[in-house]
Amino acid sequence: MPEKLVIIGSGPAGWTAAIYAARANLEPLVFAGRPKQDPATILPGGQLMLTTEVENFPGFPTGVTGPTLMSYLEQQAVRFGTRVQTDEGQTPDVSNPDDGHSYKYHDCKRVDLSCRPFKVIGEDNSVIETNTLIVATGATANWLGLENEMRLARTGGGVSACAICDGALPIFRGKEVAVVGGGDSAVEEASYLTKFAGKVYMIHRRDQLRASKIMAQRALGNPKIQILWNKIPIDVLGQDRIRALKLKDTVTGQVSDLPVGGLFMAIGHTPATAFLEGQLELDKKGYIKLADSYRTTTSVDGVFAAGDVVDSVYRQAITAAGMGCKAAIDAERWLVEHEIE
Ligand code: NAP
Repeated sequence: MPEKLVIIGSGPAGWTAAIYAARANLEPLVFAGRPKQDPATILPGGQLMLTTEVENFPGFPTGVTGPTLMSYLEQQAVRFGTRVQTDEGQTPDVSNPDDGHSYKYHDCKRVDLSCRPFKVIGEDNSVIETNTLIVATGATANWLGLENEMRLARTGGGVSACAICDGALPIFRGKEVAVVGGGDSAVEEASYLTKFAGKVYMIHRRDQLRASKIMAQRALGNPKIQILWNKIPIDVLGQDRIRALKLKDTVTGQVSDLPVGGLFMAIGHTPATAFLEGQLELDKKGYIKLADSYRTTTSVDGVFAAGDVVDSVYRQAITAAGMGCKAAIDAERWLVEHEIE
């Protein structure tokens, strides 16, 4: 018997879809991605696994850590009958440092959406058949890949890839902070940070912003933002907390130190859609295209998508969770319409 619903992805979108689908008796099967060697995705559970304090997810008046929020969502989904695809004796064995919760995971290697039921192929070549599919594989923030950048991002040392998520934290208040990038996100994040920080440096590798004219004007006209042109960070300095950036001038090659109390990366995101191998329509940046922007339907009937894998605009845990809920309801309605019990 094919599955009624398989969900690929274990971030806020995937787990919320699982909670709703499980409560509708669909007994969803979740593929939570295998932890990667890349430190940005060292644990299953998506981008929140790299976030320390989450203060803007409704329902947590005193905040919650990213890994704990994800382990809560998983436990809530499992409580109503969600199954999580896993290996026997999976390695590495990963657990939440805060509450000891042990994560299950199993990568989906590829899918075949050309047949019905659809086929979901696991990393061990196992084939699962399913009538509906929700893709909630998210996107990964791009990082420079500097050793100390990743270490401090993981340990709450003042390095982040989301100013809207982390910028209001007390550690950044009144401090001089830096945003790396010259696109719309960098301008948006820098402008947002001026509400809390004493000064914001925008570090851009060229002498012209990529951001749209109106956004560029916003950065250039803000007295709290100073743009450092033709610069790239080559090192992040600091033990427990960031204290400075080592910058290299891309024109002269000159190296200098810039003391900062916070670092925000805004050099784009990469949606996790490579495993789809072109079977779903994507936009030119690789995000899944929705067939109807108000719903979660995709170019293949019975396949739904939710969260950052379709959303390059909002990229918040709560917006991803909201879309996960919509995707589960869309999948449930599809099964009812096709009289699949
Ligand atoms: P983006 O437009 O791709 O800009 C990325 C920026 O990071 C570029 O300035 C790029 O430099 C720089 N960069 C990339 N790799 C780098 C590296 N290794 N080292 C140093 N710098 C690096 O990405 P985005 O700003 O996240 O925007 C994504 C999409 O969302 C865009 O279409 C944007 O318009 C849209 N967006 C819109 C709004 C809004 O309208 N309010 C807000 C946010 C995002 P180069 O310029 O030299 O390539």
